[in-house]
Amino acid sequence: MQVVEEAVVKGEVSEGLSKSPAHAVKQSKKNKKKKKKKSKKNRGKIFSCAPTTDKKREGPVVRGNFLLQAAPGCHIIHGINPPKWIVGMDTFFAEDFGLSSDTVEQMPDISIDPESGLLTCVNKHESNIRTFYISVSCKVLDADLKDMENGMARDIDGKAFSCVTFVVVLPPQALIDICYLQRPLAHDDNSDLMDNSVYKLYSDVQDIPTSQYVPPLLNSVSYSAVNMLKAIDEKEKYCNYTFPFKVFLDLSKPTNSHSNSDKTLARSSNSSRHGIDPILCSQGFCGCFTHFFQATRHAIDLECPVSTPILAVADGTVVEVKQDNVVSGIHASNLYKWNSIMLKLDDGQFVEYVHIETNSVMVKVGDRVQRGQHICNSGDVGFCPRPHLHIQMHNSDKKDAPTIPFGFKRCILAPNAMHSSKADNSAIEDLQKSADEDDAYFIPEAGKFYTEYGLYCA
Ligand SMILES: [Zn+2]
Repeated sequence: MQVVEEAVVKGEVSEGLSKSPAHAVKQSKKNKKKKKKKSKKNRGKIFSCAPTTDKKREGPVVRGNFLLQAAPGCHIIHGINPPKWIVGMDTFFAEDFGLSSDTVEQMPDISIDPESGLLTCVNKHESNIRTFYISVSCKVLDADLKDMENGMARDIDGKAFSCVTFVVVLPPQALIDICYLQRPLAHDDNSDLMDNSVYKLYSDVQDIPTSQYVPPLLNSVSYSAVNMLKAIDEKEKYCNYTFPFKVFLDLSKPTNSHSNSDKTLARSSNSSRHGIDPILCSQGFCGCFTHFFQATRHAIDLECPVSTPILAVADGTVVEVKQDNVVSGIHASNLYKWNSIMLKLDDGQFVEYVHIETNSVMVKVGDRVQRGQHICNSGDVGFCPRPHLHIQMHNSDKKDAPTIPFGFKRCILAPNAMHSSKADNSAIEDLQKSADEDDAYFIPEAGKFYTEYGLYCA
């Protein structure tokens, strides 16, 4: 019985393909629905489906060194561990679509079923990981036909608009049915079923050689970035940087309200302070949102309001300034439209500050800067769901040079420098002791707050 069904399936697909590749996908989906029941177990074999506990949606969720709440309207799928809300995932066999190795390129990377609106992505490549950043401006339904969260973006004229963005990372030869796109009512006239423009779909597709891809630890809440740096002999060298913000706590009214359960996100509302609040790290090294490419792997995202002063992490020279862009938010078309400043540090490393505020740079190319100097203000420009600073380090200024792990040197209390009272000094000392490790350095991890003294958990 099953054999007969398979034969019919193949017949239908090749017939469909003569019309268009998208049609082939559509036919395949119909058949897959039939096959799904028996093949569901097989999915686990190939992609080790280990769903994460996703019940507490309301609370802060850190996954893959990324704070999920930091990107409203963005939905992340790493194919080695896909979330439960997707419609389905399977191995891609060209022959299932009536294709051979010669004709497999006819299969589109991204397709939308004209009837159901099913959004499908395929990685036909035999060894590369394929990444997709896809934005649509329409209503989106998940596998249970529930509305998926949308988010906001800002266009070149400063106008805000709503969209939904998918971050999809597919292993070689994999096919994923993501969700259902809903055709806007005004277009329900069957005028052109194959015209995907009604969904305003925008995509950016890139390949990563499998050897360069480090799978984010999607199930891990605590990600030890510090371990990554222990592999480097010259830790002193790579962690000798000043935190790029001055939080300047007023600790005259210290609070001792931290408990172990909410230690990482504790933010005391009744403690008075001057300057800026402790800084939330929303994505750390190997973050599953945007930090899994070689050129971003060792980047850190630090959330702060637009116009927060940003400091030089060490002495150096300004080598590049980009500050004309204005777009913002979660739309994939913003991926390469950031503002940034790059310094060549005197230790030979290059540090890049990204998403900075338009026209906020206070230095120019060639200028010398000193450790701790205010060089620009933070912003929200580029592919930037919420205002934050993305900071990363390279040992070359070449385009797409790999990032290198780095950390910050914990500020040591200078007697009488900032806080005159004994009470303040002892409070800062307590703060230093309560940091995650009795270490001179710290590497921010997603979901935790930091100051120049390290992990903040007052
Ligand atoms: Zn980042």
